Amino acid sequence: MIAPEVPAPDEITAPWWEATGEHRLLVQTCARCSGAQHPPRALCVHCGHDALGWSGSAGLGVVDSFTVVHRAPRPELEVPYVIARVRLAEGVLLLTRLEGRDPDTWRIDDRVRVTWVDLDDGRALPVFIPAGPSPTAEPETAPEQRGS
Ligand SMILES: [Zn+2]
Repeated sequence: MIAPEVPAPDEITAPWWEATGEHRLLVQTCARCSGAQHPPRALCVHCGHDALGWSGSAGLGVVDSFTVVHRAPRPELEVPYVIARVRLAEGVLLLTRLEGRDPDTWRIDDRVRVTWVDLDDGRALPVFIPAGPSPTAEPETAPEQRGS
């Protein structure tokens, strides 16, 4: 698996990273206004309060924007790969990668779901794969005929 640049956790992001180790995607949520935000911050971007907690994300979203990288910044990275902004169902945007499909076949608003790339340090990176049937995917084994 390609190793992307991964920032070290800090005081604010530590709980978020900790959850990734258990393959749980968290969204920082304000106790006062119920606003959700990502990445994690010290204050609510909606109301400025610091009463921030965490809620679990279902890990479902849509592609908000993406770019296919054909020239890697580091020689060990395999190209092409897809950097994307995914809008989670919870309303926040996540900078991530798209996997599981030919890079040139992605479209804005494609439905995606989270999957995880485990890191050596016990954390994991959320990346996204097609949530629905892909127009380019090999057909899966034919569903069994129901008796009629
Ligand atoms: Zn708030």
